[in-house]
Amino acid sequence: MRLAIVLPCYNEEEVLPSTLDRLLGLLDKWSQSGLVAADSYLLCVDDGSSDRTWQLIEQAHMRDARVKGIALAHNRGHQNALLAGLETVTDRCDAVVTIDADLQDDPEAIAQMLGHYADGAEIVYGVRSSRRSDSWFKRTSAQTFYKLQHAMGIKAVYNHADYRLMSNRAIKLLSQYGESNMFLRGIIPQIGLRTATVSYPRTERTAGTTKYPLSKMLALSVDGITSFTARPMRWIFNTGLVLMLIDIIVAVWALIAYFSHRSVTGWTSLILSVWFLGSLILMALGIVGEYIGKIYIEVKHRPRFAIRDELFD
Ligand code: UDP
Ligand code: MG
Repeated sequence: MRLAIVLPCYNEEEVLPSTLDRLLGLLDKWSQSGLVAADSYLLCVDDGSSDRTWQLIEQAHMRDARVKGIALAHNRGHQNALLAGLETVTDRCDAVVTIDADLQDDPEAIAQMLGHYADGAEIVYGVRSSRRSDSWFKRTSAQTFYKLQHAMGIKAVYNHADYRLMSNRAIKLLSQYGESNMFLRGIIPQIGLRTATVSYPRTERTAGTTKYPLSKMLALSVDGITSFTARPMRWIFNTGLVLMLIDIIVAVWALIAYFSHRSVTGWTSLILSVWFLGSLILMALGIVGEYIGKIYIEVKHRPRFAIRDELFD
């Protein structure tokens, strides 16, 4: 059983050395106990870092050939870094585990994932049993997002980020999804192979700072919804319908007021509705625009990433 561990790394010079040591130690332990083959390896995907991340990967590769690396030509984001890693390990492993480079997700849980894999599961999700170490904001925003997704009918695993095991067959099936906007957490459940879950407590980052500022979190959550459902458009339409009904009542009232000569004092209601409708129209346009933007990006079929360097032997 040859295991590949894929680590997306964006400006991770502070944590990378300790992460690699820890994972190599675990690989040693697991290969001694026969859980994984001796040629199992780590693949670091440098997502266009501007710090010394790639040099550190090169040095680690010199010391231990089990550390492999690819460097993307520029920063393409977490999801694309993961995809680049998955594409690189396809047919070069029996199963792959993707994990964040900061090891906030307990790597010991990989042993349990391997157990489920041995029992026939082809996708094993790592699920956070507690998020106490996350800030209040991170926890609440993430959970609101999971609930929103659920309300929109998108099937995703609650409290699961991109920590998971996939069999080689699962990655090959994933590669058939040709879209440019890849929200892996939404797509992988659609592959439909046998799945299992493993839970673990999430810990704090040991070094470095988060590479997920609010702007990236928002962009990811917009992708996570608009890539899977057109339901927001239907909501806007329904809201419009309800407003139309209210409008009829307002019109009747306005006409009665007009014919009974009490119509001059309508300024407040008028100005309120102008503002309200204006904002509603803008919102609706924004949502429609989001989908049109998606179509625009998808029809171009642009490559999702370009690999600049590869250390793989
Ligand atoms: N990451 C990446 N490209 C980016 C942003 C993040 O490859 O543009 C990687 C990052 O190096 C880390 C993982 O994605 O391995 C998760 O990022 P982080 O731990 O900063 O997010 P958080 O845990 O704070 O949500
Ligand atoms: Mg993290």
